[in-house]
Amino acid sequence: MPSTMARCPNCVTLTLVETRTARQAVLQCDHCRGVWFEDGALNRAIAHKHEHIDEYDHEEHLGAKIGKGDRLCRRCDSAMERYHLLKHYEVEVDCCPSCDGVWLDRHEVTEVMQSPQLKDALATLNRSTSWRSWAFQLLTQMPVEFNLKAHRTPWVTYGIIVLCSLLFIAGQVVPGLEMPLYAWLGFNSDAPSWLQPFQLVTHQFMHGSWMHLLGNMYFLWLVGDNIEDALGHWRYLMLYLVSGIAAALAEWLFFDASGGPLLMVGASGSIAALFGVYMIWFRYASLTMMIVVFQIKLAPHWYFLFWSGFNIVGMLIGDTGVAYWAHLGGFLFGLVVGLTSKSRIMEQNLLMKLLNQPEIRVQRSSR
Ligand SMILES: [Zn+2]
Ligand SMILES: [Zn+2]
Repeated sequence: MPSTMARCPNCVTLTLVETRTARQAVLQCDHCRGVWFEDGALNRAIAHKHEHIDEYDHEEHLGAKIGKGDRLCRRCDSAMERYHLLKHYEVEVDCCPSCDGVWLDRHEVTEVMQSPQLKDALATLNRSTSWRSWAFQLLTQMPVEFNLKAHRTPWVTYGIIVLCSLLFIAGQVVPGLEMPLYAWLGFNSDAPSWLQPFQLVTHQFMHGSWMHLLGNMYFLWLVGDNIEDALGHWRYLMLYLVSGIAAALAEWLFFDASGGPLLMVGASGSIAALFGVYMIWFRYASLTMMIVVFQIKLAPHWYFLFWSGFNIVGMLIGDTGVAYWAHLGGFLFGLVVGLTSKSRIMEQNLLMKLLNQPEIRVQRSSR
């Protein structure tokens, strides 16, 4: 390490000290904890951090040049230039145009070290809609999701889809089974009290029609895989079951029993809670909406705002046959779960945490 490179570009008068990490020595400021990388050292550090990367050139991926900052390179006394870390990730890094050294403030180190993943993630999130996604939504009226692929296979999501489908098909094909299935497994406010706790769980796996089943299973598949990936299988299963119970209780609480007992089936309440969680944890994802024949990408909070709006309107005009309170109650429950657990989940999923930073620029309008 050169002895001339002594002072911190940030604190100016303070001296950088050599700190040994696993592989190499870096110069760090004891006061502000910023780190100085000599020419090429940052690329080696990033490549070392990622097993699948042999060589990395961070300069190749820098975003917009913001201009000269007021910091001086303490190696060659040139004014350092500020750049966005990536085109759509606006963390600002200081680069010396003369000696190619890089200065990272303490809070930037994690983002810069993870920049290869951030770059790949942004490429996925920022894709434009295609003619295929357009045709799919035109035909099905279902949204298309833009989010990262889950690392874990979503076994619980698949399991719920299989169980719901089998129960529905069994009711359709086995003569005389449909009514007893609904009577025992659906939620019935007139059922004996010893049976109701059981029905609060089982009604989440029963559906009333093909459209009801297909619509719910599509949405479950859409948002469930990412949530299961973030939470892990068992915690996700608990979330699904508890959400369905909370949603059913919300419906029961507000149900007008003068027109007969409450009979409720469907995964909608549990899925509505997953919507709430998804909106809080995956604000960098997009869901498409079709306006006449124009497909647009929406941030999850806009998408679910429209979805909530449809439910509130449906409830106000008194459209029966849909458990609006279960939808809205489940959604609120999911928002609360999402908010209260957000910081813990982000600590456990570094990439999610970085993608939730305000410096991200997700592209949603077509360019
Ligand atoms: Zn300093
Ligand atoms: Zn320099």
